[in-house]
Amino acid sequence: MNRKLIAGNWKMNGLRADLPTIREVATAAGASLGGPDVLLCVPATLLSEAAREAAGSALSVGGQTCHPAEKGAFTGDISARMLRELGANYVIVGHSERRTGHGETDEIVASQARAAVNAGLTPILCIGETLAERTAGETLKVIEGQLAGSLSGLDSAASLVLAYEPLWAIGTGKVATAGQIAEVHAFIRKFLVSRYGDAGTGVRILYGGSLNPGNAAEILPIPNVDGGLIGGASLKAGDFLAIYTTARALTV
Ligand code: PEP
Repeated sequence: MNRKLIAGNWKMNGLRADLPTIREVATAAGASLGGPDVLLCVPATLLSEAAREAAGSALSVGGQTCHPAEKGAFTGDISARMLRELGANYVIVGHSERRTGHGETDEIVASQARAAVNAGLTPILCIGETLAERTAGETLKVIEGQLAGSLSGLDSAASLVLAYEPLWAIGTGKVATAGQIAEVHAFIRKFLVSRYGDAGTGVRILYGGSLNPGNAAEILPIPNVDGGLIGGASLKAGDFLAIYTTARALTV
C-alpha cells in the first residue's frame, strides 16, 4: 500500500491574508510520523511565504503549473526551477482547467512533467474524461490516450503522481461512484505497471472531483486510491484537515 497524499489545489485563490490557513494546516500536520503526506498547491505569489509557514512540519507546498522550458521569452509564465527556488516540492500539470482554458495538450503536459522532474519537483499529472466521453462509453479509451500522451518521455516512475479527475466532478458537487473510481484507478495502475514494471505499483494515484469531509471516508479506502486532489474543500483549514484526518486514520 502506498502512503497516501492529501493535496490541496487553491487555484487562483489566496492572498497574504490567507497565510493563517496554511499555518493552521502546518501546525495540525506537525511531524506526521507515519501518517499521510500533505500538500498545498498555492498560487505562485504565495509560494515562498507558504513554504516559510510549512517549514519544520510535514506540510509541503507546490505550484499549479509550469512552463516546459527552463527559461526564455515566455511572458507571464513560470518555470519549474523558479517554483523549486520558492520552496515547492510538487507541481500540478495537466489540470483540466489548464487543458481546456490554456490549450495544454498531452504533448505539452508531458514536456511540463519532464521539466518538473528535471528541476527536482514531483509532477502531479492530471487526467480525466468529460461527461460526454463517459456517456459515450469512452472513459477508458480517453484515459489510455491521455496516459500514453502525457507520460511520453517520462522514463522513470520514481518521481511521479497521477490524479484521476473526471471533469464532470470538478467543482460541481457531483462525485464519481466508488465503482467508477475503482474501475479507472485499476486501469491506470495496470497501465503504469505495463509501462514502468514494478515501479508502477509505487506511483500514487489520487482521486479528485468534489472530494470533501463528507465523502472522504468512502473514497479514500478504495483500492488504488492513494490520496486525493482537493479544490474547493482545501480552502478552509477545517475541511481540508478533516479529509487529512480521515486519511490518517487509514494510514496509521
Ligand atoms: C480540482 O480542481 O482539482 C478539484 C478536484 O476541485 P474540487 O475539489 O473543487 O472539485
